[in-house]
Amino acid sequence: MATTVKKVNRSVDLTLWEKMYIPEILRGMSITLKHFAVNLLGNALEVFGGRRERKIQTLYYPEELPNVPIAYRGRPVLVADENGLEKCVACGLCEVACPANCISIIGAERGDGERYPVSYILDGSRCIFCGLCEEACPKEAIVMSGEWQDICEYDRAKMIYTKEDLLRSEKSLKKRIKVLREKYFNKGRY
Ligand code: SF4
Ligand code: SF4
Repeated sequence: MATTVKKVNRSVDLTLWEKMYIPEILRGMSITLKHFAVNLLGNALEVFGGRRERKIQTLYYPEELPNVPIAYRGRPVLVADENGLEKCVACGLCEVACPANCISIIGAERGDGERYPVSYILDGSRCIFCGLCEEACPKEAIVMSGEWQDICEYDRAKMIYTKEDLLRSEKSLKKRIKVLREKYFNKGRY
């Protein structure tokens, strides 16, 4: 991805007006005040049924939630297939790859010989959202979701996620999985 580099020209000579300092401070404060007034008025208009012109980037959380970019690494979650079963085959690669040692898996075999995790525990209080579990997984069975809200707790015990807590439908994660395929598969990583 191309990165735009902005250079600050530090060799600009300040005018006498700018060197006086106070006028520039006042100018900065007037800009802040202008934004304050515009947003206050915008909210007041909305209360009276008018249309609020959004001039600010802040959100009315939790009523409004941001659309996080698809590359965002939120809570790691397990992918469920169309039958609601985990795609995980309990190979343990994510467990080994995790630098925070927050994944514990107990695997077993189903009647048809397919391996699956009887237990998949992820300690969210230790997770550093590095995404290495996602990179290590050969089955696209664990991915970094866009979930960032409600991941903090006062009680660390509430941050221990079980397989059932982590399962999400493949459909709901398809954008992230598409990005992963472009990022890793198309570059010959696997
Ligand atoms: S994101 Fe990183 S720290 Fe969190 S579970 Fe995956 S590998 Fe472990
Ligand atoms: S790497 Fe993937 S398939 Fe293997 S145990 Fe982890 S989530 Fe399951």
